[in-house]
Amino acid sequence: VNSYLDSIKTTIFSVMSALAVEHSAVNLGQGFPDDEGPDAMKEKAAAALYDHNNQYPPYAGVAELKQAVARHSERYSGIPVDAATETLVTVGASEALTCAFLGLVNRGDEVILFDPQYDLYAPAATFAGAVIRTVQLDPNDWSVPHAAMEAAFSERTKLVLINSPHNPTGKVFSDEDLAFIAGLCVKHNTYAVCDEVYEHLVFEGSHHRSLRTFPGMADRAVRVGSAGKTFSFTAWKIGWVTGPARLVTAVAKAHQFVTFTVASSLQRAVAYGLDHEVAFYTGLGKMLEGKRAYLERRLKEIGFQVLPAQGTYFLIADFRSLVPVDSTETDTDFSIRLTKEAGVTTIPVSAFYISADPPRTLVRFCFCKTDDKLRQACDALESFFGKRR
Ligand code: PMP
Ligand code: GLN
Repeated sequence: VNSYLDSIKTTIFSVMSALAVEHSAVNLGQGFPDDEGPDAMKEKAAAALYDHNNQYPPYAGVAELKQAVARHSERYSGIPVDAATETLVTVGASEALTCAFLGLVNRGDEVILFDPQYDLYAPAATFAGAVIRTVQLDPNDWSVPHAAMEAAFSERTKLVLINSPHNPTGKVFSDEDLAFIAGLCVKHNTYAVCDEVYEHLVFEGSHHRSLRTFPGMADRAVRVGSAGKTFSFTAWKIGWVTGPARLVTAVAKAHQFVTFTVASSLQRAVAYGLDHEVAFYTGLGKMLEGKRAYLERRLKEIGFQVLPAQGTYFLIADFRSLVPVDSTETDTDFSIRLTKEAGVTTIPVSAFYISADPPRTLVRFCFCKTDDKLRQACDALESFFGKRR
């Protein structure tokens, strides 16, 4: 088999979810919402199945969804998009990102990824033959280290991947961060792949702005979205790409030989949702903010240090003060112990690092869960660790 795969383990999300099931733990690990998206969309999908939507649709997506994606893109990022030539429908954001690497990178080209990072990026970049350069966000506040970022660029840099709002930290990149990154992309003539799957999951007081809106970026950036995040339908695996026609065409060429196309019944339902279920996705930030506030308060009372965030449904907590000062327990060991002994599952943050020296006292909690489940998890942690404050 492909020898690169020897270095890849089963994804941490599957490992921790299986462990949660085995120990009947409350699963605040893998990111998936308890409350699903609108019933009207399920009805549209079911109706489409009975309306002859069961043979190969066009490879780049059904026209209805391409048009809805173009409208959505213009409405929320202010970027006009031509539905026919500047949109592509994929099997989730995952396929969009994989095809972006396959379509935009030549073997040996360099790509810049931030650490921590979503676990798909490095394998997908490697499959495309890219050489990865990593820049670590500062774990104190997840700010972009300017000198390290500048140093990561070379004449072989082909693209930079920016994920904002960011998994696992919840960071929403500031306009200053983005302007700095855009300046480097323009200076070094690189592409940018903008993973914006959490674009609507932003808390009050923060705003999400796409890197593609910065000067010089419209012609060199592609944006990636996901119905899994926008409509809380993670099993549907509908994603999309928008960007300049030349780049979207390249991503689409890869897509036609990876999956070719995507279930049209679900595409039609998502097209409906983007236009008619606006209140659902524009309300996600506010709904999640309340859940985050609850989890944050309870975790702090138990003795966790909670890191600030501006969006997503993830929260990072430092467990340093819950273990002895001389403890050598890693975040992975801690997550396993918490699942087995406290009955609560988290994700060790080191799993989001490809650099050799990740932080070792951080775990990620996913809070897009029912209030009951969050309370149950916090009660379990409180009886395990006690209450400090
Ligand atoms: N990017 C990020 C940052 C994610 O968190 C996820 C979902 N976990 C994806 C991409 C993949 O999205 P999808 O499920 O639509 O493939
Ligand atoms: N994106 C989800 C997370 O970060 C998990 C996706 C997956 O399980 N592959 O938890």
